[in-house]
Amino acid sequence: MLVVKNLKAWYGAAQALFDVSLQVAPGELVVLQGLNGAGKSTLLQAIMGIGPRVSGLISYQNNSISAWEPHRRAQAGLGYVAEDRRLFAALTVQENLRVAARGDVQANEARVLDLFPALKSMLRRLSSQMSGGEQQMLAVARTLMTAPKLLLLDEPCEGISPVLVESMVQALLALKAQGMPMLVAEQNSILAERADRVITLVAGQLKA
Ligand code: ATP
Repeated sequence: MLVVKNLKAWYGAAQALFDVSLQVAPGELVVLQGLNGAGKSTLLQAIMGIGPRVSGLISYQNNSISAWEPHRRAQAGLGYVAEDRRLFAALTVQENLRVAARGDVQANEARVLDLFPALKSMLRRLSSQMSGGEQQMLAVARTLMTAPKLLLLDEPCEGISPVLVESMVQALLALKAQGMPMLVAEQNSILAERADRVITLVAGQLKA
């Protein structure tokens, strides 16, 4: 269980989050909505420990993780996919997957490719030679190779073709069916209708 209480975040003197509190329970899909600049990315980054200066409580599996380095949060099970994907352009699809792998690489890879079958036919292609949507799938797939226990996804369906949006939604719903808890930021309402809960940020505050 992920618990965030009274989270505040600042970029320099500018406050970006104001007393945000939320929870993601085991198996839950929580969608975080909000307009451009509402603070969605800031919130996910704060949970991962890579963003702005923060105060407040962030707890995961009953541990207060606010002071933990990002890699320790990842090792504890938080898997994060940034909006800008952050793939290794000079590596192939398969190398991108394996570079992140933990545990049983082959078993993980088989599981991940079952979720994203479109990647199977492009394992030897450079990630820079994929469409935006394919890259987005690879970014989620690569994070899954780390065997996370909770996913933080920043706009996974943004700016990709309708067919690939559908593939992404199917993959995320399959993950949900397997019990993977997820906190997904999105501006459109693609996943919102399939979510257990939808929360909305307005100018850095959660709307009641
Ligand atoms: P988008 O969908 O456009 O990314 P968002 O809801 O994710 O929007 P954030 O990117 O979290 O919103 O931005 C929240 C606020 O913090 C905005 O006012 C933004 O200008 C500001 N901000 C974000 N990143 C930085 C940064 N690195 N330095 C300074 N201010 C920032």
